[in-house]
Amino acid sequence: MSGPRPVRAPRGTELSALGWQQEAALRMLQNNLDPEVAEHPDKLVVYGGTGRAARDWRSFDAMVRTLRSLKQDETMLVQSGRPVGVMQTHEWAPRVLIANSNLVGDWANWEEFRRLEALGLTMYGQMTAGSWIYIGTQGILQGTYETFAAVAAKKFGGTLAGTITLTAGLGGMGGAQPLAVTMNDGVAICIDCDPRAIERRIEHRYLDVRADSLEHALQLATEARDARRPLSIGLLGNAAELLPRMLAEGAPIDIVTDQTSAHDPLAYLPLGVDFDDMAAYAAKDPAGFTQRARESMARHVEAMVGFMDAGAEVFDYGNSIRGEAQLAGYERAFAFPGFVPAYIRPLFCEGKGPFRWAALSGEASDIAKTDRAILDLFPENESLHRWITMAGERVHFQGLPARICWLGYGERDKAGERFNDMVASGELQAPLAIGRDHLDCGSVASPYRETEGMRDGSDAIADWPLLNAMVNVASGASWVSIHHGGGVGMGRSIHAGQVTVADGTALGAEKIRRVLTNDPGMGVIRHVDAGYEGAEEVASERGVRVPMREG
Ligand code: NAD
Repeated sequence: MSGPRPVRAPRGTELSALGWQQEAALRMLQNNLDPEVAEHPDKLVVYGGTGRAARDWRSFDAMVRTLRSLKQDETMLVQSGRPVGVMQTHEWAPRVLIANSNLVGDWANWEEFRRLEALGLTMYGQMTAGSWIYIGTQGILQGTYETFAAVAAKKFGGTLAGTITLTAGLGGMGGAQPLAVTMNDGVAICIDCDPRAIERRIEHRYLDVRADSLEHALQLATEARDARRPLSIGLLGNAAELLPRMLAEGAPIDIVTDQTSAHDPLAYLPLGVDFDDMAAYAAKDPAGFTQRARESMARHVEAMVGFMDAGAEVFDYGNSIRGEAQLAGYERAFAFPGFVPAYIRPLFCEGKGPFRWAALSGEASDIAKTDRAILDLFPENESLHRWITMAGERVHFQGLPARICWLGYGERDKAGERFNDMVASGELQAPLAIGRDHLDCGSVASPYRETEGMRDGSDAIADWPLLNAMVNVASGASWVSIHHGGGVGMGRSIHAGQVTVADGTALGAEKIRRVLTNDPGMGVIRHVDAGYEGAEEVASERGVRVPMREG
């Protein structure tokens, strides 16, 4: 009987499958479940609530077995974490095709999904859990870094040096904020009501110091700001109380955002409640707790709007705090924008997004060599240089060594081809798996996040991720996936992923050139179609063909 057990991807150059494409899928599936990588490996849960890599242990074993014997002209089909067929295809076809969590529109809600999940018929694939390209917390750190770099580019001349950012929430994902701000040379004051969250971030070197009081935090922040020295400061307290106080006292804040767990009102500490009593109160009176949490969020968001009125740059970081404040009756809740329309969409127009790769050798030195290759390929991109250098120094690998950085149209293919050459020449000890998050420029329809506020109103049009998956299949990706509900939940998103293996062969190079051109190309054409001038410029300059602009 198969059951929970520790899983770890093999390292080195010895193959247990019939080729590197299959071996890569096998190692990345196993790597997603490595206890260093996955949140609950015994339950096959990788991250993000219940995002799984396989439906159950029997399915996991069957996928491992099948990948080991899969031929170069065969494709394994995976339906929500279970291998359901092997078909003869051809050498250019993906070795694995994956569809996770998809439901017909009218049935696409959590209730129906949970019913089907309980029957053992489906699983939640999140984004990179069920498509085998999750690389641990480096992903969220880089995404947060990129967002703050975009804030710096838009408002502060390309650096956060000399600015103070105010935010709250030092949890699983929000804990990346202090390091992302200091990596951009800024100062951050980060409020959390849980002293352990502050301590944990200091232990992991994501947060520099803890202030004793609000006054102490402001003193530390202004000193560092005046010296243009990066510093992150943890401050214990309730954001709904501290933000209005700081606003009233005229605290010199330049940027405000928030990553408390506002998406779940039972996880947001209401005003006047002690942190130690929070869990018991939420369990005893969920309705009363929710109402008080929402009212507190309204005070929190009102203060954020106040900072905006006073000239600060303010944005929502995808935690629904604006929506919750609005439910509590605060009318100006949506006065400030979400982070995608505010900063990320211009990057999406250039085909930029979270490009990542993992060293199948298991050797950190392979990643160090690819880091140097990236610095060499893109000498003019300062923010990329800062990220790669700091990531090399400060990011602790989880599972197979991996790296992430945002690259755009015309850049990803260059990097991929260089990597393939490095495998071919023996400079790298083994092939690389090159993929990305589904949160990318042309691979997701998600009206509350990636496609919020599209210029032409096409937020909910989900043809784009489907075209994206099909073009990756047609271009030679090693595995391709179509998922539903990642990031924002059932009924709210459809998205696609691809992973392509740099195996050092000439055929591998051909596939990489096509996939890593066409995949970000989807971002460019999606945004040209929606009427973004930035995307039109990229299409003209870099030769992306859009039939409606021709003739
Ligand atoms: P988490 O639950 O691990 O952490 C939340 C933290 O907020 C906790 O440490 C908690 O103590 C603190 N907190 C709760 N109420 C507070 C209050 N009133 N004052 C001060 N601190 C308070 O959650 P997480 O994984 O870090 O994610 C945080 C939120 O950010 C989620 O809503 C998530 O969906 C969102 N998020 C969105 C994106 C995105 O859109 N790209 C990325 C990352 C996180």
